[in-house]
Order: sequence, then C-alpha cells, then structure tokens
Amino acid sequence: MGARAGVFKKGIVILGSTGSIGVSSLDVLDRHPERFEVVGLTGWGNVDTLKAQILRHRPKIVAVADEEKAAQLRSDAELKGTDVVWGTEGLLEVATVNGADMVVSAIVGSAGLVPTFAAIQAGRDIALANKETLVAAGQIVMDEVRRRGVRLLPVDSEHSAIFQSLAGHNSKDVKRLILTASGGPFRGKSKAQLSSVRVQDALNHPTWSMGSKITIDSATLMNKGLEVIEARWLFDMPGDRIDVVVHPQSIVHSMVEYIDSSVVSQMGVPDMKGAIAYALSYPDRIETGLPFLDLASVSTLTFESPDREAFPSLGLCYRAIEMGGAAPAVLSAANEVAVNAFLDEKIGFCSMATVMEAVLDNYSATEPSSIADVLKADLWGRHAARKEMESLTEKVEYK
Ligand code: NAD
Ligand code: MG
Repeated sequence: MGARAGVFKKGIVILGSTGSIGVSSLDVLDRHPERFEVVGLTGWGNVDTLKAQILRHRPKIVAVADEEKAAQLRSDAELKGTDVVWGTEGLLEVATVNGADMVVSAIVGSAGLVPTFAAIQAGRDIALANKETLVAAGQIVMDEVRRRGVRLLPVDSEHSAIFQSLAGHNSKDVKRLILTASGGPFRGKSKAQLSSVRVQDALNHPTWSMGSKITIDSATLMNKGLEVIEARWLFDMPGDRIDVVVHPQSIVHSMVEYIDSSVVSQMGVPDMKGAIAYALSYPDRIETGLPFLDLASVSTLTFESPDREAFPSLGLCYRAIEMGGAAPAVLSAANEVAVNAFLDEKIGFCSMATVMEAVLDNYSATEPSSIADVLKADLWGRHAARKEMESLTEKVEYK
C-alpha cells in the first residue's frame, strides 16, 4: 500500500495506460483519489497522452517504447519526479515497481504476456484486460497465480459478469458458462457479403468503443473465441461447457447456468468502466459516473445463435482448445498478424480466418512448460501466418 499523508491507498500500475482500457481505468481512478494512488504507467508510442497522464497523476515511473521517446520525456522540466524507462526492460521495471498492489494489464496482444507474468511473480494482484495472456499461456499463468497467492480479477466484461454471477455459488453446481457477444458490425451478413467489407466498416462497432485490434476481432467473432479460451482458464471450465449467444444490445454481459436450470446474469450499460471499477475495488463496489441502466428505455433484449459459417474464427478457437498445448498461442499470434494485414488493407476480411485455419492445420500441438516455450510458439504462429498470406491468391478489391 502506498502511504501519503498518513492515508493508505491502493497503489496501481497500468500497463497500456494510453489505450482504450488504460484511459478508462484512469478515469475510474480519478474519481476515487482517496482510495487509489497511481504508481506506474506505460504508454509505448503515444508520448503526448502519456505526458498529460503524468501531469495529472504524478506516477513514480513510466515506460515508453524506445530511448528517443524516453529522452523526450526526461528532458521535459514539467515531468520532474517521474522516472522514465524504455523498452521491454522498462516495461518489466514498471510491472514490478515497489509500492504497487495491483497491476492493470491493458497492453494489446501477446506483448502483454511477459510484463503481466512478471507482475504475478512479483506478487501483484492483476486486473486482467489483456485476454491474450490467458489465451497464450493459460495453464502456466494460472499455476503461477496459485503459487504466488495473488488475485487475478477479470476486466473483460463477459468474464467480470461470470465472476459476479458465480459469487456465492458452488462451482460444482455450474452446468455451463454462457458468454454474450454483440455480433459486431456485420451480424446477419453472409460469407459472400463479408468478402467485400471495408476496414472502416469493420472498425465501426455498434455498441462498444475499443482499440482497433479488439474491434476487428469483434467483427470476425475472434474476440468471442479468444474469450471462450480465456474463460476456460479463468474459471477452470472445459470448452464444451462454455457457450456463446449473440445479444446485440450488449446489456446482459454474460451468464452462468446452474444444474437446477437457473441462469444468473450480470447486466449494465455497455461501458468498460463498470468491469474495470469492479476489478479495481473488489470486493467493494465504487461509483463509476456511468448512467444507471434504464431497462424500460432499452425495452427489448434479444438473443440468437452465432453464425459459425459466416464467422469461422469462433470455431477455430474451440478447435485450438481441443488441440491443446500451445495451439491457442499459435492461433492468437496468427490472428494478430492477420488483423494487422487486414488493417493495412493487404488481405480481405474473410482471409483472416483462412490464414488462421491453415496455420492450425500445419501445427502439431506440444505442451509449453515455460513462458519461453509459449513465446516460441507465438513466433512460430506469426511466421506461419506470414507464409500463408504470401500464398493467398486473393486480391483485396473493395467495391
Ligand atoms: P488499445 O490499442 O486501445 O491500447 C493498447 C495499449 O497497449 C496502448 O497503451 C499502447 O501504447 C500499448 N501497446 C501497444 N503495443 C505495445 C507493445 N508492443 N508493447 C507495450 N505496449 C504496447 O487497446 P485496448 O482496446 O485498450 O485493449 C487492451 C487489451 O484489453 C486487449 O488485450 C483487449 O483485448 C483487452 N480488452 C479491451 C476491451 C476494450 O473495451 N477496449 C475490452 C475487453 C478487453
Ligand atoms: Mg469482452
């Protein structure tokens, strides 16, 4: 606990503070200065946003991507009192800095794995937004969480909802977990229609405002697949007892079905500050500034099955769970490569799943026994995805 003026506060580090989750986390923390103290931030590329965050929160330490950006912040007289470090070493320094009680893991992609793991090893509680950490290294991360006796609290809204819906129940009474999915911007489109969708349409999510990688993942339903894998580890539940239902209004954040046929769910407006606040303050609840849910004005909640043919990425994630070993790490790495290629307009929307499927076809799963093994599998997946993309015959043509 950080002590300031004799008051004990929870010391918080945010890895990825300049991103969508990072900014929302700081917004929640800002509302409760009596409870929290920001100890460390990492901003990577966006130095201007990070500077504004340093001025507002005066953390002990921050990390950026490279030496040049670090020099820029270090030479800024307004930022005296905050240590500036850089690169992977810098990330690790911030992730394990003294005075932090909880680390918000909000870097995007598998880059979040190593610093999050280091924070667990250093005994920090984790508020986990970076789902790729559990997707890639679920068994190893959960073993370490148990060994170190730290709390791993979900920030992903579906997992927060399940965590809340499990409270006060026995895990032996759970029949299945039901993740809700908004369906993304292309819900209802056929495979043929999807082949010509544009990047800007895919980035236009109907209910959630998020970073670009997860927004594309939401449009392909890959995000939901990654969340099934995340739930598999977080709640120790086999893949065949985790289902997905499309719920376009994004009000029911997810559900738990019990053996007596009861279903317990958690609801709220679709804004990540709800789940972030719960992870930060657990087991207390704190104000978020969010509007209260007015069900009468929402009026209609609808549910439908996901279209697995038009959105094959979801099935690929179930397949990776079945394959076991580092298959989810390989799949997730291939997805990152494919999403970046789609964002750069190098491949079309449907090719993302085509590439991932071919990568899984060529992978024989082996059990990773360390984070180093997981990183090797991640590299293999990236390399295999690039090779698959070279052999794609498709030309991207937008109408
Ligand atoms: P974002 O793109 O908005 O932000 C990413 C952050 O990571 C930024 O601070 C960026 O500077 C940093 N970063 C990027 N590459 C990095 C690297 N190589 N090394 C170190 N730092 C790097 O992403 P986001 O939408 O905030 O998502 C963050 C994570 O949270 C993702 O794993 C995502 O799946 C998860 N998540 C996000 C939401 C959401 O609503 N945005 C919801 C649930 C889960
Ligand atoms: Mg989610």
